[in-house]
Amino acid sequence: MNKNQILIPVDELPNKWYNIIPDLPEPLPPPKEPESGPSRMEFLQKTMIHECLRQESSTENWIRMPDEIWELYVQAGRPRPLYRALRLERRLGLKRVRLYYKREDLSPTGSHKVNTALAQAYYAAKEGKTTLVTETGAGQWGTALAYAASLMNLDCVIFWVKSVYDWKVDRRTLMKVYGGKVYASPSKETKIGEEILAKNPNHPGSLGIAVSEGLEYTAEHEGSIYCLGSVLNHVLMHQTIIGLETKKQFELIDDKPDLIVGCLGGGSNFGGVSLPFIGDVLKGKLECEFLAAQSEAAPNLVKGEYRYDFADVGEHTPLLKMYTLGHKIEMPPIKADGLRYHAAAPIISLLRHLGIVKAIAYPVDEKAIFEAARIFLQSEGWLIAPESSYAVRAGIDKALEYEKAGEEKVILMNISGHGFLDLQAYKEKLGIP
Ligand SMILES: *Cc1c(COP(=O)(O)O)cnc(C)c1O
Repeated sequence: MNKNQILIPVDELPNKWYNIIPDLPEPLPPPKEPESGPSRMEFLQKTMIHECLRQESSTENWIRMPDEIWELYVQAGRPRPLYRALRLERRLGLKRVRLYYKREDLSPTGSHKVNTALAQAYYAAKEGKTTLVTETGAGQWGTALAYAASLMNLDCVIFWVKSVYDWKVDRRTLMKVYGGKVYASPSKETKIGEEILAKNPNHPGSLGIAVSEGLEYTAEHEGSIYCLGSVLNHVLMHQTIIGLETKKQFELIDDKPDLIVGCLGGGSNFGGVSLPFIGDVLKGKLECEFLAAQSEAAPNLVKGEYRYDFADVGEHTPLLKMYTLGHKIEMPPIKADGLRYHAAAPIISLLRHLGIVKAIAYPVDEKAIFEAARIFLQSEGWLIAPESSYAVRAGIDKALEYEKAGEEKVILMNISGHGFLDLQAYKEKLGIP
């Protein structure tokens, strides 16, 4: 059996998602209405996909995916390989520690976000919607949704934070080639955007404004529906396809992880890879630790408080119980833009509160992060996203620690995306002329 690249046949691609909620040791604190203002739950009923809202509070352990979503996953290249990082191990001088990585970077748009984008596009089409609307910060989510919309013959409208829209020209082009309508936010497409532009025509935008624009656009345009790319329970559940595949892959080679690391912004790739394994830990079937790698720019799990907070700056969502830095916090810019989010998903937050998930945050200068990305590229050959490089940094650090302590351990790192549209960041951070 080849132990470098571990593949399962297409026919073994799981056809159910894993919902951890009924297996949690404590009930997941439900969403709450804030004390003032309109009902946020009613607002979500009006703006979001009904099947996703049903899944959000489902108490079933397994949710069968419609055949068409299963086929879309195959179309998108699933199942994705699990790699043993033999060359990285050699480069680090590891004798006792084995390193593996899961390849979400092999996705069409370059990130794991297609796993939920395809599901949401499918359900939206089923519910008779014609247009998917969203906001995007780093751009990965907007690209994934534009892709999913085009495969399902839907329109896609993306409000992209202007300061990022302006410089990520290649990603913007990719969204447009998929057929997405991409607006720099604040835009003239909405009242709120126009008001902001009237006061300051050069406003750089923010995620909060982009969300508000997206929601206003959805409310004003018949056939539109708003989509979210992280944090919510159903998003994490769609992402469990990552961990479910990985479990089968480990079974195939008769190995198992002692530590799973993933980067964490809102928690969807980390939840996706780890929740199926956490389920086994909760049932006493596996011993494994879980480590979320974050930036000190947004250390929600490391420094946040576990309390009810809004999921967006504009206070459109219900209150969710999360580790949060506060929904109004300003976060310094970093190259791993996808990790800049004020709070961690409710499911991950509860698991952190119970001590099952641990977290670490790396300095804002990202020197150590890009150095890890370079080591990974030079030994394994793959150019990974700045966000994913946090997982690799944490994986390398833990591997060296175990090795030094003489412990025989297996580490799994999730590679959430590729870095082909982030070469500018590599250039800058590694000082390449
Ligand atoms: C969006 C994104 C992240 C962060 O989001 P999570 O929901 O925490 O996974 C990480 N990596 C990549 C490549 C992303 O696009």
